[in-house]
Amino acid sequence: MPDAVRIAADLRAMLGSDAVLTEAEDLVRYESGWRYGKGKALLAVRPGTTAEVSKLMAYCHAQGLRVMPQGANTGLVGASNPDASGEMLVLSLERLNKRLEIDPINRTAVVDGGVLLSSLNEALVAQGLMFPIDLGADPTIGGMIVTNTGGTRLLKYGDVRHNLQGVEVVLADGTVVDALNHLRKNNTGLDLKQLFVGTSGVLGVVTGAVLQVVPVPRQQATALVGCASGEAALALLQALERDLADVFTAYEVISANAIIPVFAHHPDIRNPYGTSQPPAYTALVELSSTLPIEALDLPEVLEERLGAFLEGEAGEGITDVFMGKPEDFWAIRHHISEGLRNEGKVLAFDISVPRSRMAAFTTAAVELLAQDYPFVRACDFGHWGDGGTHLNLVWDEAAAPVPTAELVPVLQARIYELAVKGFEGSYSAEHGVGPHNQRFYDAYTPESVKAVNHALKQLLDPGNLMGTTRLD
Ligand SMILES: Cc1cc2nc3c(=O)[nH]c(=O)nc-3n(C[C@H](O)[C@H](O)[C@H](O)COP(=O)(O)OP(=O)(O)OC[C@H]3O[C@@H](n4cnc5c(N)ncnc54)[C@H](O)[C@@H]3O)c2cc1C
Repeated sequence: MPDAVRIAADLRAMLGSDAVLTEAEDLVRYESGWRYGKGKALLAVRPGTTAEVSKLMAYCHAQGLRVMPQGANTGLVGASNPDASGEMLVLSLERLNKRLEIDPINRTAVVDGGVLLSSLNEALVAQGLMFPIDLGADPTIGGMIVTNTGGTRLLKYGDVRHNLQGVEVVLADGTVVDALNHLRKNNTGLDLKQLFVGTSGVLGVVTGAVLQVVPVPRQQATALVGCASGEAALALLQALERDLADVFTAYEVISANAIIPVFAHHPDIRNPYGTSQPPAYTALVELSSTLPIEALDLPEVLEERLGAFLEGEAGEGITDVFMGKPEDFWAIRHHISEGLRNEGKVLAFDISVPRSRMAAFTTAAVELLAQDYPFVRACDFGHWGDGGTHLNLVWDEAAAPVPTAELVPVLQARIYELAVKGFEGSYSAEHGVGPHNQRFYDAYTPESVKAVNHALKQLLDPGNLMGTTRLD
């Protein structure tokens, strides 16, 4: 076991006493994840500059100390917390948040890795700009890069990978890699920044980034569209892209099982269906534009097109169209997880399949559950515009014939097998690998891919000191 007292003294001398936390009550918040992950930290260290991160990593490398980089700790796969050994040092990026430089003509922002998404957007909005990755949490930019965060407008803007121009990374031995590329066009060899995207931080600590940013839209229009089936929701998606691709920014689909608990547990959120049973699926459609409404009346355009779809232009199965305010409709979407938690035990999934196969996959999953686990309810919803679905399962633990501890791994294995093997899908659409998904990464990743990852890991972190996720 590493000598925590000696290490804390060394690090205080190196980085200042404020940077090092050792008391149990101070460490608690770094030790548990948002949804999964619980461990024990040797201590937590909070460097304030890239040079300090570099010194810290060089020290840990020399001492053979294991390090867990941590941003805002909003990750959903248990990858940001130390393991139970008590040997890992948490490297919190929370104080590495000073650099925030905006170039409005280049449409870029240079930021420290610990800058929060909300802080970045607060600074950008004064220039009429935003970072277009939008989600219901407030992560750090470094955390977003290594988890390649998606978000609700991926359909229009892409994920972090598509909006990243450069990175600054500190490797396991303390080497600072300066790949802070400011250029939109720079075709000069390996695009090194991409090596660190989506790696859970096991190849290096992201201390800085150059991000592409976009103009804030001047107007939005949203509608809820009732769909009698998953196939009807896919036909609607295709028709919307055909007619409105330039201004189409989000397409979320919510099953009746997922939307009913929102209204049941939040009487303040208006139910457009009133006392009627919602149809099988409700699509949340969003259009956005930087054009003023005098030049392009988005609500009018959306209402006209959806009216035509209701009459059959998008095929059979469009049952209802409700126009409304974006904040009201997004409130429904953002209260689904909470609504489901009020219904019973929830097992969350983050699956993707090719968009064209979304309805067939969901039907197959529901049939599998009805046959073998009839006490489990599928309450699916998600980013259908990107082929992503949170096929969340809910059951009453007290009434279930199978204990939850036995049921969870079996359900995970069966649903993932169906998605990956049956529908060319992924067991992790946007949340990453982490300890939560490690056994599925091990099972489904081709050996040739693991071998390349192993070579990279050997090159950049031969002592295997960084993180708990294994990509090799
Ligand atoms: C309510 C809610 C909604 C969400 N919605 C979405 C969504 O729509 N789409 C989506 O993709 N995700 C979503 N997430 C997941 C989550 O927000 C992302 O994974 C997030 O971007 C992680 O950033 P973080 O700063 O919190 O990182 P952390 O949780 O602290 O860490 C995540 C991983 O990154 C590593 N890490 C963190 N910072 C660094 C760094 N600077 N250098 C190297 N490694 C680092 C950690 O070791 C860990 O492996 C949601 C989460 C919540 C709680």
